[in-house]
Amino acid sequence: MGEGAVAVLGAGMAGAAAARRLVEAGFAVHVFDKGRGPGGRMANRRTEADLRFDHGAQYFRARGDAFRARCDAWVAAGVAAPWGAEARFVGVPTMTAPVRDLLDGVPVSSGTTITGVRRVGARWTVTDAAGTTAPDFDAVAVTFPAPQVAALLDASGLVLPGIERATYAPCWSLMLTLDADPGLPHDLLKPDAGPIALVVREASKPGRAAGHRLVAHAAPAWSRAHLEDPREAVQAALLAALATVLGHPLHPIDATVHRWRYAMVETALGQDCVYDPAQRLGAAGDWCLGPRIEAAFDSGQALAQRIAADLTGAR
Ligand SMILES: Cc1cc2nc3c(=O)[nH]c(=O)nc-3n(C[C@H](O)[C@H](O)[C@H](O)COP(=O)(O)OP(=O)(O)OC[C@H]3O[C@@H](n4cnc5c(N)ncnc54)[C@H](O)[C@@H]3O)c2cc1C
Repeated sequence: MGEGAVAVLGAGMAGAAAARRLVEAGFAVHVFDKGRGPGGRMANRRTEADLRFDHGAQYFRARGDAFRARCDAWVAAGVAAPWGAEARFVGVPTMTAPVRDLLDGVPVSSGTTITGVRRVGARWTVTDAAGTTAPDFDAVAVTFPAPQVAALLDASGLVLPGIERATYAPCWSLMLTLDADPGLPHDLLKPDAGPIALVVREASKPGRAAGHRLVAHAAPAWSRAHLEDPREAVQAALLAALATVLGHPLHPIDATVHRWRYAMVETALGQDCVYDPAQRLGAAGDWCLGPRIEAAFDSGQALAQRIAADLTGAR
């Protein structure tokens, strides 16, 4: 890649928003992500029984003008749709759709765990776990959860100030298929207390297949206390807790759990991104502004803005 090439590390909402903004500004962008496909915590899983679940973020809201305009465009394009009465939106057909839309036409290397970034003269190289090196970037934008940004920088002998201040709560997510209607009183339920913080009826979201599928997220304190427990024990405990919430025993056809080590931001940096023009290295993500998809979008766009202004000034 030549002048004006940017490596965006991470293909969640922050990375996708950064990549889109940079492409629109005329830069050559390459996105790298360790996941099987784009989306990050806007995730969807297909179980062995070929059933689909949004097992990460459940929905998003739009508060600011920039994200509102983007949501309106997604709704018009069928990439997102309103869900329920309280100005909530979901991706269609899954929560990954808005991220995929932002990355439309952008080269993405999925299944690529980045283990190092290195400045050689005025250029950056990016190395993955297989030892493959992608050379010749003018700037690097890292959009992982903050502890993973810190780990990459540490392994690369680099520093960006403040990142270590951001903290996350973990979340165990339970995906459940039942043979009968579980009798959930609402499509989205938020119990006040106990191990379960949220229950969603998957098929109530627009564009999903019919069926009695539930996603239940464990509360932050419970997830933290059971973070290293065996999956079977977590699954059994969450099934029992969900039966208590619903007031009857559950007979799942299929059940599985997923552990999100970095799920919801607890302490955000309070600034829209981190960028060091001397290194042409920056970082963005929900951890900059708060535990929301919109915050990740705003942060990614802010970092892209900083990089674009910097590189444009140097042209
Ligand atoms: C269970 C759960 C429920 C949630 N519910 C909601 C909700 O209802 N509403 C809401 O607004 N938000 C919710 N959130 C939060 C929301 O998902 C995040 O705020 C947002 O998606 C963060 O986007 P991001 O781009 O900052 O990070 P991520 O989506 O985490 O993207 C970071 C990307 O970096 C990649 N990565 C990490 N390390 C490496 C590496 N070394 N090499 C290559 N790639 C790497 C990851 O694979 C990932 O794709 C929820 C999150 C979870 C986990």
